[in-house]
Amino acid sequence: MTRFAGKIAIITGGASGIGAALSKMLHDEGATVLVADLNAAAGEALVEALGKRSHFAEVDVADAEAMSDMVEKAVHRFGGLDILCNNAGIGCFGMTPDLSVDQWKQVLAVNLDAVFYACKAAIPHMIARGGGAIVNTSSASGLQADYAFTAYNAAKAGVINYTRCVAIDHAHQGIRANCVCPGPVRTPLLNLDPFPGLQSRWESIVPAGRFAEPEEVAAAIAFLASDAASFITGTALPVDGGLTAHTGQPDLRKAMGTPP
Ligand code: NAD
Repeated sequence: MTRFAGKIAIITGGASGIGAALSKMLHDEGATVLVADLNAAAGEALVEALGKRSHFAEVDVADAEAMSDMVEKAVHRFGGLDILCNNAGIGCFGMTPDLSVDQWKQVLAVNLDAVFYACKAAIPHMIARGGGAIVNTSSASGLQADYAFTAYNAAKAGVINYTRCVAIDHAHQGIRANCVCPGPVRTPLLNLDPFPGLQSRWESIVPAGRFAEPEEVAAAIAFLASDAASFITGTALPVDGGLTAHTGQPDLRKAMGTPP
């Protein structure tokens, strides 16, 4: 497939997990890809493996100036920008009284502020080019609340509504903005090694009965970034195996003696 032939894409958090799967997918389908990440070792190794049309930029997405600089350099070097995937993210465990102000600010900075910084820098170039596609990685945790995941829930919910703002403000300029809302995905972010048994308990509350693979989320992002989604903008697409379709109430099939 060459869905992205001739397209220029920036993928933040592109060195690992969902971002790395997406970088590979877009690159394999013809795009020139700039992998933007804090992790230089992983980012350099990925672009080395991908080969020509892939590039790495070491950047802290929480740094507004660095983000603007990264976008300007990419546009100058590659001749424009068609696709922006704001995917970098960090988690943080803590209920409100226990969360420090610095933790709150850092989680909001990486997960939410960074999306604004990148869009602010990219949109004028997309307008000049006649359009573009922005896909932000929110989360099922942006749609509903998790126990003790306060700052992350707030940031990811902000990503969803910010995405809608960008979508309606710039639809007339050919720019589409959407986000994906993954449930649990098998990536380094979700390292459950210290918690024996947690993965199977977690999987049991996902109607599909398992975690997603990074490629399954990347495929949804790639679809939203592609021309096949030409009339889709402002949406928040759950990619969660049914997690957020469920009310959270008990499985009555078990109580009724009719297990699935
Ligand atoms: P990951 O840890 O494998 O990848 C995240 C990448 O972001 C890493 O390469 C990391 O170096 C980079 N990063 C972190 N902070 C950065 C910063 N300040 N500047 C630049 N890069 C930075 O995790 P992942 O699971 O692939 O996460 C990708 C996105 O998916 C995140 O936004 C995450 O919140 C979201 N998400 C993940 C899951 C899950 O279960 N894994 C579920 C829902 C949403």
